[in-house]
Amino acid sequence: MPAETFKIDFTKRYVLALLLIAFLSSGAFFILHFALKTAESTALIVNISGKQRMLSQRVASLAQHYSSHVSHGNISDAKEIKISLLKAVDEMQDANNRLSTGQITEMVTFTPSTTINNLYFGKVDTKRRVDDYLRLANKLLISKNTDQYNEILYDLSMMSDTLLVDLNEIVLQYQKEGEEKIAVIQNLELIAWIITLLTLLMEVIFIFQPMANTLRTLFQKEMWNKNYLEQEIQIRTYSLEQANEKLEYSASHDPLTGLNNRLNLEHELETLISHYRENRIPFAVLMLDIDWFKKVNDNYGHDMGDFVLKDLATLIRGAIRSEDSAYRAGGEEFVIILNRISQAQAIEKAEALRQSIEEHSFVLGEIELNITISGGLYHPKWLEAMDLHEVLKLSDNALYEAKHLGRNRIVAAQTSSLELSSILSPSKTLIKVRGIRGETIAFADFDIIDLLGYSNDMLTQGIISLRDIVHPDDHDFFERLALRKPFMTTLRMLHANRNIKIIKAGCTPLKDDMWKIEMQDPILLAKSVEDTMIVQNFEAMMENTDDFIYFKDRYHVFTAGSHSLVRLTNVPIKEKLVGLTDYEVFSREYADKYFKLEKEVFSGGINVSREIQPILENNGRNGWVDNRKYPIKNKEGEIIGLFGIARIVSDLENFNGENYV
Ligand code: GH3
Ligand code: MG
Ligand code: MG
Repeated sequence: MPAETFKIDFTKRYVLALLLIAFLSSGAFFILHFALKTAESTALIVNISGKQRMLSQRVASLAQHYSSHVSHGNISDAKEIKISLLKAVDEMQDANNRLSTGQITEMVTFTPSTTINNLYFGKVDTKRRVDDYLRLANKLLISKNTDQYNEILYDLSMMSDTLLVDLNEIVLQYQKEGEEKIAVIQNLELIAWIITLLTLLMEVIFIFQPMANTLRTLFQKEMWNKNYLEQEIQIRTYSLEQANEKLEYSASHDPLTGLNNRLNLEHELETLISHYRENRIPFAVLMLDIDWFKKVNDNYGHDMGDFVLKDLATLIRGAIRSEDSAYRAGGEEFVIILNRISQAQAIEKAEALRQSIEEHSFVLGEIELNITISGGLYHPKWLEAMDLHEVLKLSDNALYEAKHLGRNRIVAAQTSSLELSSILSPSKTLIKVRGIRGETIAFADFDIIDLLGYSNDMLTQGIISLRDIVHPDDHDFFERLALRKPFMTTLRMLHANRNIKIIKAGCTPLKDDMWKIEMQDPILLAKSVEDTMIVQNFEAMMENTDDFIYFKDRYHVFTAGSHSLVRLTNVPIKEKLVGLTDYEVFSREYADKYFKLEKEVFSGGINVSREIQPILENNGRNGWVDNRKYPIKNKEGEIIGLFGIARIVSDLENFNGENYV
């Protein structure tokens, strides 16, 4: 029902209900009012008629007394009685008039019943007889002689007796009629009460109940609508959630093998890399590629190819631990992430998987075949990558190398540091290239010269740029790695004729602009010391010496790399040197010397080799190290080692390099 119609209908109903109640209450009021009036007038009439009856007796009695006093000459008493008698006569006359005419008072009138009329005017003729009776009484008062008195008195007493009977009857008749009227009114009241109750009942049945029903129906409809909507919303939310889950699943899973896809891989790798960076929690990444997979498709059809992929996925899933995860990285390439695993365990796991794949028979219907896989294994202990792209790149490089080496094998993504001296060795040709930012990068694998198709001159004079010889996809990776440390890995290189060559190549940064050799060339310096150690950069120094000293004071991180130097310290076992302060490490004499020296170095008093090097800070951001080397001499003044003093400089732009201490 529309709201407007509903409103009109309701208004009509309750107006009708109110009108009925108003009508009923008015009726009840009038009936009650009428009843009260009737009771009042009935009482008055009965009262007057009773008074009339009493007065008729009084008139007779006063007339008797009056004539007795007159006959005894008792004039004064007779006079008094005369007054009373006259008054009684008047009052009776008045009552007689009122009762016979029905005009009781000015306000109260009544229509005498037939019985009353008959009593007054009919055969009984009470009206006239009362008039006669009162006239006789008046006549007595003006009579002069005794005989006349007696005669009148006699008549009066005769009339009085019969009159009393009739007046009494009238009183009774009035009483009777009054009671009858009241009974009728009482019945009326009862009827009005019943009608009221019935009307209210009808209102309840025909007005209020339907109204309540309409409201209830409306309310239920409303509730039902609400519940329906809520249910509808729940259903929709649920199906949306399901659709979302499905979508999420299909977005992150490979439909053929059911393995995770690349999307999840990148996310998980990022997490693992940051865990390794922060807490040194080791992990490994194994990148697999099926050997000669194209042949499977070509020889047995695409369906068999699909089956092999699926079956291999099952095999991989069964081989990994619950904390590991497997991904289909694309095509016939898979990536397995091994969580919390040492280098040795990772190699063992990867090798076991490779072997189990080699031994597995892939059977579909009539076809039965065996396949092998090649893999590249990355572990951060071998080479800590900056980010997931580098991890993937290094694994990929190792995988390429595995292919290159003849397939069905796993190659670890390891780098080997190159010694600058060997690069600079005149017996070998140095390939210098310009990096993306113009820096010089030296290549150390000399086999590549033959492979690249450039002339020796072009390669040694730095005419060739990185862009010319490194595959464009590897530029970033190559350069980032090259800037941090010397490395050796499998790279996609470009031949002069633009053919891609996958070769093992290594490089090291030769950042001319960053090496500031102010007085002593570190190489020359290194050559002049007994225990040669070439320090390429801060990190390399840490890596390349097996007995470095690492200690610190409030301001600095100090390292020293020399076998002889260890002998100068107070510490017998080299491992204990790590993290100690200079005064804990050196004897007082040396510590003081050292401290002075260090102060001089940093205030610029002593000219040393100096290098500003990028490093990765603990928080993962890039930072800079101000790294200076200076010689340590023994008592005879001989140089016995090379000291590195390094400090972390976070804000390179505001770094003037001089005012440290
Ligand atoms: P290599 O040992 O050098 O890896 O040789 P390969 O033949 O495996 O290498 P290549 O990358 O040339 O071939 C990969 C093939 O994998 C090519 C492509 O048709 C096939 N392939 C990629 N994805 C699917 C797939 O979902 N189903 C099937 N059946 N074949 C696929
Ligand atoms: Mg393949
Ligand atoms: Mg492939």
